[in-house]
Amino acid sequence: MVEAFAVASGKGGTGKTTSTLALGMALAEDYDVTVIDADTGMANLLFHAGLDDADVTLHDLLIDERDAAVSDAVYERFGMSVVPCGTSLAAFEAADPGRLRDVVAELAADTDVLLLDSPAALGSKSAVLPVVLADRIVVVLQPTVPSLSDGLKVQEYAHSYGTDTAGVVFNRVRPDENVDAIAEQAGRYFGGQTLASVPESDAVRAARREGKPLLAHAPDDPAADAFREAAARLDVRD
Ligand code: ADP
Ligand code: MG
Repeated sequence: MVEAFAVASGKGGTGKTTSTLALGMALAEDYDVTVIDADTGMANLLFHAGLDDADVTLHDLLIDERDAAVSDAVYERFGMSVVPCGTSLAAFEAADPGRLRDVVAELAADTDVLLLDSPAALGSKSAVLPVVLADRIVVVLQPTVPSLSDGLKVQEYAHSYGTDTAGVVFNRVRPDENVDAIAEQAGRYFGGQTLASVPESDAVRAARREGKPLLAHAPDDPAADAFREAAARLDVRD
Protein backbone atom coordinates (compact mmCIF):
# COMPACT_ATOMS: atom_id res chain seq x y z
CA MET A 1 0.00 0.00 0.00
CA VAL A 2 1.10 3.56 -0.66
CA GLU A 3 -0.90 5.61 1.82
CA ALA A 4 -4.06 5.76 3.94
CA PHE A 5 -5.96 9.03 4.36
CA ALA A 6 -8.74 9.77 6.83
CA VAL A 7 -11.18 12.38 5.54
CA ALA A 8 -12.18 14.10 8.76
CA SER A 9 -13.83 17.17 10.22
CA GLY A 10 -14.95 18.62 13.52
CA LYS A 11 -18.64 18.59 12.74
CA GLY A 12 -21.01 16.63 10.51
CA GLY A 13 -22.24 17.91 7.18
CA THR A 14 -19.04 19.65 6.09
CA GLY A 15 -18.74 17.40 3.04
CA LYS A 16 -16.53 14.51 4.15
CA THR A 17 -18.43 11.83 2.26
CA THR A 18 -18.70 14.00 -0.85
CA SER A 19 -14.96 14.72 -0.61
CA THR A 20 -13.97 11.10 0.02
CA LEU A 21 -15.67 9.92 -3.16
CA ALA A 22 -14.49 12.89 -5.22
CA LEU A 23 -10.88 12.53 -4.11
CA GLY A 24 -11.15 8.77 -4.59
CA MET A 25 -12.32 9.11 -8.19
CA ALA A 26 -9.64 11.69 -8.96
CA LEU A 27 -6.89 9.51 -7.46
CA ALA A 28 -8.24 6.45 -9.26
CA GLU A 29 -6.88 7.96 -12.49
CA ASP A 30 -3.39 7.05 -11.26
CA TYR A 31 -3.78 4.60 -8.39
CA ASP A 32 -5.74 1.60 -7.19
CA VAL A 33 -8.09 3.27 -4.75
CA THR A 34 -10.16 1.74 -1.96
CA VAL A 35 -12.77 3.82 -0.18
CA ILE A 36 -14.17 2.73 3.18
CA ASP A 37 -17.17 4.20 4.95
CA ALA A 38 -15.62 4.23 8.41
CA ASP A 39 -18.39 6.49 9.74
CA THR A 40 -20.02 3.39 11.21
CA GLY A 41 -22.57 5.23 13.37
CA MET A 42 -23.81 7.71 10.77
CA ALA A 43 -22.90 5.84 7.60
CA ASN A 44 -24.19 7.44 4.43
CA LEU A 45 -21.57 6.83 1.77
CA LEU A 46 -23.80 4.05 0.42
CA PHE A 47 -26.36 6.69 -0.61
CA HIS A 48 -23.69 8.74 -2.40
CA ALA A 49 -22.36 5.73 -4.32
CA GLY A 50 -25.55 3.93 -5.40
CA LEU A 51 -24.97 1.13 -2.90
CA ASP A 52 -28.18 1.46 -0.87
CA ASP A 53 -28.98 -2.21 -1.40
CA ALA A 54 -25.50 -3.60 -0.68
CA ASP A 55 -25.89 -7.03 0.90
CA VAL A 56 -22.70 -7.22 2.93
CA THR A 57 -21.20 -4.06 4.45
CA LEU A 58 -18.49 -3.00 6.87
CA HIS A 59 -20.88 -3.69 9.76
CA ASP A 60 -20.84 -7.39 8.86
CA LEU A 61 -17.04 -7.36 9.01
CA LEU A 62 -17.09 -5.74 12.45
CA ILE A 63 -19.56 -8.22 13.96
CA ASP A 64 -17.72 -11.39 14.86
CA GLU A 65 -20.68 -13.79 14.65
CA ARG A 66 -21.50 -12.78 11.09
CA ASP A 67 -18.32 -14.41 9.89
CA ALA A 68 -18.16 -12.34 6.67
CA ALA A 69 -15.11 -12.20 4.40
CA VAL A 70 -13.63 -8.77 3.72
CA SER A 71 -13.89 -9.34 -0.03
CA ASP A 72 -17.69 -9.81 0.32
CA ALA A 73 -18.02 -6.16 1.40
CA VAL A 74 -15.96 -4.75 -1.47
CA TYR A 75 -17.90 -3.36 -4.45
CA GLU A 76 -16.21 -2.21 -7.65
CA ARG A 77 -17.81 1.13 -8.44
CA PHE A 78 -16.74 4.22 -10.40
CA GLY A 79 -13.22 2.84 -10.91
CA MET A 80 -12.70 2.31 -7.19
CA SER A 81 -13.13 -0.48 -4.65
CA VAL A 82 -15.84 0.73 -2.29
CA VAL A 83 -16.62 -0.70 1.16
CA PRO A 84 -19.95 0.77 2.27
CA CYS A 85 -21.31 0.62 5.80
CA GLY A 86 -24.90 -0.17 6.74
CA THR A 87 -27.30 2.17 8.49
CA SER A 88 -28.73 -0.11 11.18
CA LEU A 89 -28.36 1.22 14.71
CA ALA A 90 -28.51 -2.33 16.08
CA ALA A 91 -25.60 -3.36 13.83
CA PHE A 92 -23.60 -0.32 14.90
CA GLU A 93 -24.17 -1.27 18.53
CA ALA A 94 -23.23 -4.91 17.89
CA ALA A 95 -20.08 -3.96 15.97
CA ASP A 96 -16.65 -4.17 17.56
CA PRO A 97 -14.93 -0.98 16.35
CA GLY A 98 -11.50 -2.47 17.12
CA ARG A 99 -11.93 -4.92 14.24
CA LEU A 100 -11.60 -2.02 11.81
CA ARG A 101 -7.84 -2.26 12.30
CA ASP A 102 -7.74 -5.78 10.80
CA VAL A 103 -10.17 -4.88 8.01
CA VAL A 104 -8.01 -1.89 7.05
CA ALA A 105 -4.84 -3.99 7.18
CA GLU A 106 -6.36 -6.60 4.88
CA LEU A 107 -7.61 -4.01 2.40
CA ALA A 108 -4.34 -2.09 2.53
CA ALA A 109 -2.39 -5.10 1.34
CA ASP A 110 -4.26 -4.98 -1.93
CA THR A 111 -4.51 -1.30 -2.87
CA ASP A 112 -2.43 1.85 -3.43
CA VAL A 113 -4.54 4.47 -1.69
CA LEU A 114 -7.04 3.95 1.11
CA LEU A 115 -9.55 6.67 1.89
CA LEU A 116 -11.41 6.42 5.19
CA ASP A 117 -14.60 8.46 5.33
CA SER A 118 -14.47 9.32 9.02
CA PRO A 119 -16.98 10.22 11.75
CA ALA A 120 -17.27 13.82 12.83
CA ALA A 121 -17.24 13.83 16.59
CA LEU A 122 -14.27 12.71 18.62
CA GLY A 123 -14.47 10.80 21.85
CA SER A 124 -15.48 7.21 21.20
CA LYS A 125 -13.26 4.45 19.86
CA SER A 126 -15.27 4.12 16.64
CA ALA A 127 -14.92 7.86 16.01
CA VAL A 128 -11.20 8.10 16.60
CA LEU A 129 -9.90 4.88 15.07
CA PRO A 130 -10.01 5.92 11.39
CA VAL A 131 -7.85 8.93 12.19
CA VAL A 132 -5.48 6.75 14.21
CA LEU A 133 -5.19 4.15 11.43
CA ALA A 134 -4.48 6.70 8.69
CA ASP A 135 -1.08 8.03 7.64
CA ARG A 136 -2.50 11.51 7.03
CA ILE A 137 -5.77 13.36 7.49
CA VAL A 138 -7.60 15.54 5.02
CA VAL A 139 -9.63 18.06 7.02
CA VAL A 140 -12.86 19.20 5.36
CA LEU A 141 -14.01 22.58 6.60
CA GLN A 142 -16.29 25.42 5.82
CA PRO A 143 -14.27 28.63 5.42
CA THR A 144 -15.23 30.07 8.80
CA VAL A 145 -13.37 30.61 12.06
CA PRO A 146 -15.61 28.22 14.07
CA SER A 147 -15.06 25.48 11.49
CA LEU A 148 -11.32 26.12 11.56
CA SER A 149 -11.37 25.85 15.35
CA ASP A 150 -13.12 22.46 15.08
CA GLY A 151 -10.63 21.29 12.50
CA LEU A 152 -7.72 22.24 14.69
CA LYS A 153 -9.00 19.95 17.43
CA VAL A 154 -9.24 17.07 14.96
CA GLN A 155 -5.69 17.78 13.88
CA GLU A 156 -4.45 17.89 17.47
CA TYR A 157 -6.03 14.49 18.04
CA ALA A 158 -4.52 13.09 14.86
CA HIS A 159 -1.07 14.37 15.70
CA SER A 160 -1.27 12.88 19.18
CA TYR A 161 -1.59 9.48 17.46
CA GLY A 162 1.21 10.15 15.01
CA THR A 163 -1.08 10.91 12.04
CA ASP A 164 0.09 13.87 9.94
CA THR A 165 -2.02 16.51 8.22
CA ALA A 166 -2.27 16.38 4.43
CA GLY A 167 -4.14 19.67 4.33
CA VAL A 168 -7.52 21.34 4.30
CA VAL A 169 -10.34 21.21 1.79
CA PHE A 170 -12.52 24.30 2.13
CA ASN A 171 -15.95 23.19 1.00
CA ARG A 172 -19.22 24.90 0.14
CA VAL A 173 -17.48 28.18 -0.54
CA ARG A 174 -19.90 30.85 -1.72
CA PRO A 175 -18.97 33.41 -4.37
CA ASP A 176 -19.04 36.27 -1.86
CA GLU A 177 -16.70 34.50 0.57
CA ASN A 178 -13.05 35.42 0.62
CA VAL A 179 -11.21 32.24 1.43
CA ASP A 180 -7.75 33.81 1.33
CA ALA A 181 -7.74 35.23 4.85
CA ILE A 182 -9.03 32.05 6.44
CA ALA A 183 -6.74 29.95 4.23
CA GLU A 184 -3.82 32.00 5.46
CA GLN A 185 -4.77 31.19 9.06
CA ALA A 186 -5.31 27.55 8.13
CA GLY A 187 -1.92 27.54 6.46
CA ARG A 188 -0.31 28.60 9.67
CA TYR A 189 -2.06 25.86 11.64
CA PHE A 190 -2.52 23.05 9.13
CA GLY A 191 0.97 22.43 7.91
CA GLY A 192 0.78 25.13 5.29
CA GLN A 193 -1.47 23.42 2.84
CA THR A 194 -4.87 24.38 1.49
CA LEU A 195 -5.73 21.55 -0.86
CA ALA A 196 -8.66 23.24 -2.55
CA SER A 197 -11.48 25.67 -2.26
CA VAL A 198 -14.60 23.85 -3.44
CA PRO A 199 -17.54 26.04 -4.41
CA GLU A 200 -21.09 25.55 -3.23
CA SER A 201 -22.57 23.71 -6.19
CA ASP A 202 -25.99 22.46 -7.28
CA ALA A 203 -24.20 19.61 -9.05
CA VAL A 204 -23.01 18.22 -5.71
CA ARG A 205 -26.57 17.98 -4.43
CA ALA A 206 -27.81 16.56 -7.73
CA ALA A 207 -25.04 13.93 -7.69
CA ARG A 208 -26.15 12.79 -4.24
CA ARG A 209 -29.74 12.50 -5.40
CA GLU A 210 -28.56 10.36 -8.33
CA GLY A 211 -26.50 8.16 -6.00
CA LYS A 212 -23.32 9.00 -7.89
CA PRO A 213 -20.06 10.67 -6.85
CA LEU A 214 -19.73 14.23 -8.16
CA LEU A 215 -16.95 13.28 -10.59
CA ALA A 216 -19.22 10.67 -12.18
CA HIS A 217 -22.31 12.88 -12.30
CA ALA A 218 -20.76 16.20 -13.37
CA PRO A 219 -17.05 15.80 -14.18
CA ASP A 220 -16.86 19.31 -15.69
CA ASP A 221 -18.43 21.13 -12.75
CA PRO A 222 -16.10 23.67 -11.06
CA ALA A 223 -16.46 21.73 -7.80
CA ALA A 224 -15.16 18.61 -9.58
CA ASP A 225 -12.17 20.61 -10.89
CA ALA A 226 -11.44 21.76 -7.33
CA PHE A 227 -11.49 18.20 -6.01
CA ARG A 228 -9.13 17.06 -8.78
CA GLU A 229 -6.81 19.89 -7.79
CA ALA A 230 -6.96 18.75 -4.15
CA ALA A 231 -6.16 15.17 -5.15
CA ALA A 232 -3.10 16.32 -7.10
CA ARG A 233 -1.91 18.38 -4.14
CA LEU A 234 -2.09 15.37 -1.85
CA ASP A 235 1.14 14.32 -3.44
CA VAL A 236 0.59 10.65 -2.63
CA ARG A 237 3.75 8.85 -1.53
CA ASP A 238 5.33 6.58 -4.11
P1 ADP B 1 -20.49 14.82 5.77
O1 ADP B 1 -20.06 13.50 5.23
O2 ADP B 1 -19.35 15.64 6.25
O3 ADP B 1 -21.57 14.71 6.78
P2 ADP B 1 -21.70 15.18 3.13
O4 ADP B 1 -20.62 14.94 2.15
O5 ADP B 1 -22.70 14.10 3.34
O6 ADP B 1 -21.08 15.65 4.54
O7 ADP B 1 -22.44 16.53 2.71
C1 ADP B 1 -23.53 17.02 3.48
C2 ADP B 1 -24.56 17.62 2.52
O8 ADP B 1 -24.00 18.77 1.93
C3 ADP B 1 -24.94 16.68 1.39
O9 ADP B 1 -26.31 16.81 1.14
C4 ADP B 1 -24.14 17.18 0.21
O10 ADP B 1 -24.78 16.94 -1.02
C5 ADP B 1 -24.04 18.68 0.52
N1 ADP B 1 -22.79 19.26 -0.01
C6 ADP B 1 -21.52 18.88 0.29
N2 ADP B 1 -20.63 19.63 -0.39
C7 ADP B 1 -21.35 20.50 -1.14
C8 ADP B 1 -21.03 21.54 -2.08
N3 ADP B 1 -19.76 21.85 -2.39
N4 ADP B 1 -22.05 22.21 -2.67
C9 ADP B 1 -23.33 21.91 -2.37
N5 ADP B 1 -23.71 20.97 -1.52
C10 ADP B 1 -22.74 20.26 -0.90
MG1 MG C 1 -20.64 11.54 5.83
